[in-house]
Amino acid sequence: MMRIHTVSPVTSVVENTRPGPHPLPGSVFKTLPPVSTHMKSFRIGSLFGIPIKLDLTFLLVLPLFAYLIGAQIGPVVEILNASMGAGIDAAALTTEWWLPYLVGLIAAIGLFVGVTLHELGHSLIAQRYGYPIDSITLWLFGGIAALSEMPEDWKQEFNIAIAGPIVSVLVGVASYLLFVVTPVGFNGTRFVLGYLAVLNVALAIFNMLPAFPMDGGRILRALLARSRPYARATQQAASIGKLFAIFMGLFGLLAFNIILIGVAFFVYIAASAEAQQVTMKAAFEGVTVADIMTPASDLHTVSPETTIEDLLQRMFRERHTGYPVLEDGHLVGLVALSDAREIKPVERDAYRVEDVMSTDLKTVEATADASDALEEMQKNGIGRLLVVDREDFVGLVTRTDVMTALDIVQQSGSIDFSGERPAADDREQADTTGVDNRWP
Ligand SMILES: [Zn+2]
Repeated sequence: MMRIHTVSPVTSVVENTRPGPHPLPGSVFKTLPPVSTHMKSFRIGSLFGIPIKLDLTFLLVLPLFAYLIGAQIGPVVEILNASMGAGIDAAALTTEWWLPYLVGLIAAIGLFVGVTLHELGHSLIAQRYGYPIDSITLWLFGGIAALSEMPEDWKQEFNIAIAGPIVSVLVGVASYLLFVVTPVGFNGTRFVLGYLAVLNVALAIFNMLPAFPMDGGRILRALLARSRPYARATQQAASIGKLFAIFMGLFGLLAFNIILIGVAFFVYIAASAEAQQVTMKAAFEGVTVADIMTPASDLHTVSPETTIEDLLQRMFRERHTGYPVLEDGHLVGLVALSDAREIKPVERDAYRVEDVMSTDLKTVEATADASDALEEMQKNGIGRLLVVDREDFVGLVTRTDVMTALDIVQQSGSIDFSGERPAADDREQADTTGVDNRWP
């Protein structure tokens, strides 16, 4: 049985929507991620110029909460009466079969109003520091405030992170005061207000757990970042966050609390994603696509007339899985192993590269950050990008190039890119002529 009156299931995350490598959707002050960029949501209005959105998963969780609260009216009334002297008559709330669920629905809506105010707390402080807020989204596990940029100043992050829980405590206190002034006998109203008083304070406490990227974890990172580099502070906070997520998940398993298991999973993924993103950004500080790409002059290429059979033999011989396709020195497409595999073995002599190559080519500027190139590949689900310098095709960068370069930077400290390029094993090696590859 889920016991949502003992542990608040609702988390609040602040997500940073600034572009960055984000291997997993859903993240938070961005990932979670990640998470939000792939969510299907619709706008219901705006507060202080910030769009308020409902995710589709919210429509799932609202009736669930209404049901769970409604089904537990009896035990919750006992708790409220014992702890706050609420004097609520549980029998009066169950005279009709649907009455508990109506009360549950109102309480659930009130809970999400509280979550929205919590996110608004984060958002207004962030706005005061000059960070634009993309939106506040209510979803399966609560709320997400999406910042377009992440503050790296520890004081700013501290203040933005703590603002949410402070608002939740204030909402809890306000609910309690309204509860106190509501005369005994208004059983439904007193139930909802008493319930919201407890839950908003529980929400504040739960979010203060140092489980990065939840609020408490962000506060922890801010405090760690006072005395060490931001990336290091992030890694440490994320490790602690993952540890908490594991404990949370185990506790959820033992308590049969599915929502808590879900939150634990979410925290674990989001902590990993954001740590990776920050680590990569720090490691790749000042490294551009031009630094890690294979220059056009060093690339193996194929012609559009090459048969699939020949292409596969070349791939096997040269151990490359993707080639730029050149026609009269002009780049006309890109062909990868996955394209060639669409052709049945018996037909490989009949089909040519131009039949399967992709012509919708994704490009990246040579001057772009290496981490941006990786993000672009992940966003489009592709393994390589053409590198352009204004209109000119100047090279090819693969996911392997980026990951290998990251490996080298992380294991060696830093690389001076003014001299020799790091020679990665699976880097596309030289042999082709230096054709003038004009990118159409
Ligand atoms: Zn929060």
